[in-house]
Formats: sequence, C-alpha cells, structure tokens
Amino acid sequence: RYRHTHFLTSANALHQLPPEAGREVAFAGRSNAGKSSALNTLTAQRALARTSKTPGRTQLINLFEVEPGVRLVDLPGYGYAKVPTAVRLHWQQVLSRYLETRQVLVGLFLLMDIRHPFNPLDRQMLEWAGHRGLATHVLLTKSDKLKRGAAMAALQSVQRTLASELPHASVQLFSSHDRTGVDEAHARLDVWFGY
Ligand code: GDP
Repeated sequence: RYRHTHFLTSANALHQLPPEAGREVAFAGRSNAGKSSALNTLTAQRALARTSKTPGRTQLINLFEVEPGVRLVDLPGYGYAKVPTAVRLHWQQVLSRYLETRQVLVGLFLLMDIRHPFNPLDRQMLEWAGHRGLATHVLLTKSDKLKRGAAMAALQSVQRTLASELPHASVQLFSSHDRTGVDEAHARLDVWFGY
C-alpha cells in the first residue's frame, strides 16, 4: 500500500502547506534519530527521504503522497546543536503550530533512538501533541543496536513512562536495518488513514 508513495512538495512555513483536505500522518524526531531511514523503509524506497545528510541541514517540511489525499509528512529534525538560535526558534514555532493547528493531521509518529529516549525536545513534542489529544505512536528506532533482552527492557521502560505521563501515546520497537516493527508500524498507519 505504501510503496507507491512519492514526493509531493516542500514547505518552509505553514502557509505553504497543501490545502486542509485528506489526511496526514507526521514523522518527528531529533536529528539522526533515523527518521529518513524509517520513511524509506516504510515506503520500501531507497531514497524517498534523504538519509545521512548533514544533521539538521535540510530544514523543510517535506510532504509525500501515498495516494491522492493521503500524505506522510516529514517534519524537520530538531536538536542539532550547530543550528543558529534564530533558525532553531523558527522551527520550534513551526513544529508547535503544525502539531497544534493542522486539521488534517490524524496521527504523529515520534521517533526516538532506543538508546536515548525522552530528550527534552521529545517531551516537548509529546506535550504539544497532548494539548490537542493528537494520537501519537513512538518508534524506538535502531532497536538492532541492542540485544533482544535489552531492547525489550527499554520498550517496557518507555511504556511505563508514557502510561504515567502521556497516556495518549503508544510505543513499539523499530529497526530499518533488520526490519523489526515494520508490520506493526504499517498497521498503525492503516488505522490512522482508515484503510
Ligand atoms: P534522520 O536524521 O532522523 O533522518 O536519521 P537517518 O535516517 O539519516 O539516520 C541517521 C543515522 O542512523 C544513519 O547513519 C543511519 O544509517 C543510522 N540508522 C538509521 N536507522 C537505523 C537502524 O534501524 N539501525 C541502525 N543500526 N542504524 C540506523
């Protein structure tokens, strides 16, 4: 279902986004969390979203079309220290306003490296999503970096934190390298897009 996804457009401000029609699922995460890799893996494409670029350099909202009216939205990666303050503040504002106001947004994928969950900016994203009750699903990325037992322990720890602080969010393991969690992530997308 997702492998015909193609690039639609880029935006560097909210007014450049396509009209509020159809459905969008957004992907957010720190620079280097594995967001581009995850988008490529989920759409079975080698280079839909560019990987291994200079972290934090491509600061645009990139929109991809699964089929007419169904879009995956690649939000700019955050947390890259070398980005000038003014640029960082601009993007924080764009992210918060996108998450809080975009009507066609039906769900958020928040990507966190399984070895470094809950950066303060990740919590900020979860809070913004929580403000409007936006359904949120966490991908604990690069799960192949941990042994099975350690990965399961990390998953349970994040589950516990979410249950107590952010009950609207769910979580799963994900790896673009060994394809852990691809079916589960597709199932979540299917639900949000109403397939
Ligand atoms: P982005 O900045 O969030 O878009 O992250 P990228 O997708 O560009 O990935 C950042 C780095 O992490 C790259 O060196 C990737 O090869 C690596 N990476 C991404 N996904 C995985 C994964 O599932 N497993 C491992 N081991 N490395 C990954």
